[in-house]
Amino acid sequence: MLNANDIRKQFPILDQTIYGKPLIYLDNAATTQKPLCVTDCIATSYNEINSNVHRGIHHLSQIATEQFEAARGKVATFINAQRSHEIIFTRGTTESINLVATSFGNTFINQGDEIVISTMEHHSNIVPWQMLCQRTGAKLRVVPLTHDLRFDFDAYKNRLNEKTRLVSVTHVSNVLGTINPIKEIIETAHSHGIPVLVDAAQSSPHIKTDVQAMDADFLAFSGHKMYGPTGIGVLYGKEKWLNAMQPYQFGGEMIQTVHFEKTTFNELPYKFEAGTPNYIGAIALGTAIDFIQAIGMENIAAHESALTRYTVERLKEIDNMRIFGTPDGAAISFLVGDIHPADMGTLLDRLGIAIRTGHHCAQPLIDYIGIPGTVRASFAMYNTKEEADVLIDGIKRVAKMFG
Ligand code: PLP
Repeated sequence: MLNANDIRKQFPILDQTIYGKPLIYLDNAATTQKPLCVTDCIATSYNEINSNVHRGIHHLSQIATEQFEAARGKVATFINAQRSHEIIFTRGTTESINLVATSFGNTFINQGDEIVISTMEHHSNIVPWQMLCQRTGAKLRVVPLTHDLRFDFDAYKNRLNEKTRLVSVTHVSNVLGTINPIKEIIETAHSHGIPVLVDAAQSSPHIKTDVQAMDADFLAFSGHKMYGPTGIGVLYGKEKWLNAMQPYQFGGEMIQTVHFEKTTFNELPYKFEAGTPNYIGAIALGTAIDFIQAIGMENIAAHESALTRYTVERLKEIDNMRIFGTPDGAAISFLVGDIHPADMGTLLDRLGIAIRTGHHCAQPLIDYIGIPGTVRASFAMYNTKEEADVLIDGIKRVAKMFG
């Protein structure tokens, strides 16, 4: 088991007061805070080794390149990728999905083809596919949810046919905290010869990610949601798909030869990394991964699930509480009576409690449930039961104010 109180010492931002109250940071699904080792790594990298990667023959450039490529290796190990050139550094989950929508789309999607997503997707796993469909005349098919807001597996099977070219689904819902049966979703798609993209933005910080065990064709996640810096993320892709796909962006580093008549492209992963990459971000993401590995993904998962279960039970003490779906991840969405989520969020903020309110970039899901939005509390490794208790007391206070 991990000791959250010990871990908190690594996160100085948590040690502050907001409106005179100790900060209770429960907006981790939006972004996590950064441990000292990550912020130190960023400062040290800029102060000691900064130099553009893959370009210079001089000492600093070689060290920066070595550390950048070592970070790629750490990511590969973290998600159990077979080859480190299957790891493409991007700006985050959103860019990773856009990369696939553009490059896989340009290569493999034609008029009449179909792409399958689910009702519980984040906008960044909806809009890129919608735009691809508009460009190509392909069709977006959406898997509904069951009455208890889980991925409807039977409906999913019915959506797959000989026109389906790709399935793109989230592993964990950022609104409901539901963990989808990703292995079965992939197995079913593969039985029809259809590749699958996994949006791992909400799973990579919380549960072990193993691209080989789940047999994902593509997997996307963001560094900033797993204790790393902003502006760095990952696309994993199976070598056979990445090799077959057109490049995403064009420019320096992604080329092999350039002549005015013709350009040839670099090998993986550089073919998909045009321009100067965020190498300091990647190196610091590597440090965040070291930090997570030292604590242990199993310990993190056990701590966060226990905290989620505890909070769900305590939330049920509150009159007119509605918890949406089954929060088996680390996020809980709820509403109390007809108190607007923005009112609840504003008043909790006055008590030093940072939670998220609104549609959480998943408007179709919020419309599907038929509510104005939710209040969402989401946990990380440094949150404690005492903080959950303060949240419950805060909600009770707000509920009392609204009578
Ligand atoms: N997918 C899911 C499930 C998310 O929760 C998020 C962010 O909240 C994203 C994608 C987009 O991530 P980013 O904004 O880091 O690109």
